[in-house]
Amino acid sequence: MEPINGKVILKAGREKPVRQRHPWIFSGAITRVEGQPKPGDLVLVADSHGRVLATAYYNPQSQIRARILSWDVDEAIDAAFWQRRLARAIAARQLLALEPQTTAYRLVNAEADGLPGLVVDRYGRSLVLQCLTLGIDRRKTLLAELLADLAQPDGIIERSDVDVRRKEGLPLTTGLLWGVNPPDTVEILENGLRFQVQLAAGHKTGFYLDQRENRAAVCQPHLVAGKTVLNVFAYTGGFGVYAAAAGAGAITHIDSSVEALEQAEANVALNGWTRPSDEYIAGDAFEVLRYYRDAGQTFDVVILDPPKFAHSQQDVERACRGYKDLNWLALRLLKPGGLLATFSCSGLVSADLFQKVVFGAAIDAGRDVQIMRYLHQAADHPVLLSFPESAYLKGFLCQVW
Ligand code: SAH
Repeated sequence: MEPINGKVILKAGREKPVRQRHPWIFSGAITRVEGQPKPGDLVLVADSHGRVLATAYYNPQSQIRARILSWDVDEAIDAAFWQRRLARAIAARQLLALEPQTTAYRLVNAEADGLPGLVVDRYGRSLVLQCLTLGIDRRKTLLAELLADLAQPDGIIERSDVDVRRKEGLPLTTGLLWGVNPPDTVEILENGLRFQVQLAAGHKTGFYLDQRENRAAVCQPHLVAGKTVLNVFAYTGGFGVYAAAAGAGAITHIDSSVEALEQAEANVALNGWTRPSDEYIAGDAFEVLRYYRDAGQTFDVVILDPPKFAHSQQDVERACRGYKDLNWLALRLLKPGGLLATFSCSGLVSADLFQKVVFGAAIDAGRDVQIMRYLHQAADHPVLLSFPESAYLKGFLCQVW
């Protein structure tokens, strides 16, 4: 069993979020730290009267000084604890009945699964693990062994090459953690559609798994069959492959990454379709959309799935200007009665704020816009009520007049 090497004492009046099971203890909420906990050590969290509220792991280098693992102060944080949490997360995915039509999905969604800082995605026979915090990084060998036992993969690789690690004082790192190295390219199924994923070289852990349900919701035959589709921020063709499956007319994919577009084209072919009218355009989405606007080109369906624009609170205003500009351009390109599927994966931009931004774009574009559906991250990326930050992906499927 791991020893507890310190006690974090909160300032008076700062215990409420902890009592309400928010897992983060910010440096500004702490009055003092007793003992000499080393980075990553377990600590108790106590209110200003010294009453113990929770057990957490500690990182003096991060603004998030401690992340809570358990509110049951009698619960030992040992291998059995990690095993229970991992097993619970894995069981929750079994409830979703994704297999066999879908073989790639998130097994562990960090804080939202009671495992702060740990992301684990399954890609068929391989698992990809991301350690976002020092507390998790220190325990990754144990976590990989437990995962190997619970999920029975052939191999587990690490993709801890994410910038948030710098806020934890951690270097970026990748490599094999357990078992055999997966091939460079693995094939997965998503709702029965085939995709090749580069686990070591792709974005995030290889694929944008959080959009699975939205790809299916937007790209239904009654919505897109025979329609011209502009797939902006296409990556490896997620929405595009679904649109092709639903019988879309010409699909235009735009992305700044040539490699991603090559993979998108390969993924369309992998599913057995020959689509000579489709286009793959490498470039800046804003510039390409402006070009279409100036050329007077229009589309029946536009999908906007940009990367995260807001990385910190200071970014939010600038991010909203970006979203507004993008949506304004897309609205200008839509035929009357056309469909806009627009997304934001910036957690700092709430669904309400994003709706206001799209509203502003609609006013400026002089279009009436009806929201047909509110869209969210897929169910294997659950949202923990006590941690609203876990809801980050939002979108609207709109009809535009
Ligand atoms: N829709 C995709 C995921 C998109 S992720 C799917 O379903 O899988 C965002 C994508 O935007 C990335 O592929 C990235 O290469 C691309 N990107 C980032 N900035 C861009 C820009 N300015 N113009 C065009 N593409 C951009």
